[in-house]
Amino acid sequence: MTTKTRIRAATQPGHRSRRFMAAVFLAIGLMVSGMLTPTGAVQAGRPNANIVDSTQQGGNVIALTFDDGPNPVDTPELLRVLRRHRVQAVFCLWGDHVRQYPWIVRQIVAEGHILCNHSMHHDDMSTWTPAQIRADLLETNATIRRIVPWAPIPYFRAPYGSWGQTPQVAAELGMQPLGWRLAVGDWEPPGTEELVRRLREGITPGAVVLLHDGGGDRSQTVAAVDQIIREFRAEGWRFGRPARRG
Ligand SMILES: [Zn+2]
Repeated sequence: MTTKTRIRAATQPGHRSRRFMAAVFLAIGLMVSGMLTPTGAVQAGRPNANIVDSTQQGGNVIALTFDDGPNPVDTPELLRVLRRHRVQAVFCLWGDHVRQYPWIVRQIVAEGHILCNHSMHHDDMSTWTPAQIRADLLETNATIRRIVPWAPIPYFRAPYGSWGQTPQVAAELGMQPLGWRLAVGDWEPPGTEELVRRLREGITPGAVVLLHDGGGDRSQTVAAVDQIIREFRAEGWRFGRPARRG
C-alpha cells in the first residue's frame, strides 16, 4: 500500500461519517455528564502546569498511555490489539520517530487515539530554559502536524519524567503535562507474565498507566496489554482518558 492509498483509506467517507457519529455521541455523553458545555468548551478550562496522573472519570477506570513511538513493528501490532478491544489510548510521540514513520502517526489518529508531545529528540530537559523548551515543543508539534494537520495534541510528557520547567511551558502552549501513577518497567522487558503481574499488583482506580510502544522491542508490552484488557474488563474495569487539568 502506498502512502497515498493509506491516506485515502483513512479518510474515505464511510470512515469519516463513523468518526463523526462517534464524536456526536461522545459530545452528548460529555454534556450529559456535565463536562462539556453546549458551546463546546470543556468545563475544566485551559490546561495548567500541574502534572496529571489520574483519569477524567472516577471509579474503576484506568488510562493507558504509550511512550517513545511510533515503532514500525510494535505500534501497528498494538493498534490492532486496541482496535480489537475498542480501547482508546494516548500515544506520547517522539519527534524523530514521527519523521521516520509518518504513516503510523496517520493510523494512530485515524483510529481515534489521542496524541501527546514527547519532545523532538527525547532529551533530558530538566535544566533547559523556558525558551529552549518552547522551541523543542513547538518543533515537535509542527512535525506531528505536517502529517496530521487537524489532530489535537492535548498532552505533553517530559522524557524520563525530568520535568524541570516544562510543565509551565507546555500549559502555555495548550498541552496538559501528563504524568503517570503506575509504571511497570517495560523498558527492560521482564517477560509478558511479569508485566501482567506488575500491572495487576499496581492497578488503582483512576490511574494513568505508563507503557512503551517505542524505543526497543515492545512485543511483551503488546502481549501484556492484550491480556490485561481482557482480564480487567471481565473484572469490571473500564479504560478511559487522562484528566485534562491537574
Ligand atoms: Zn520516553
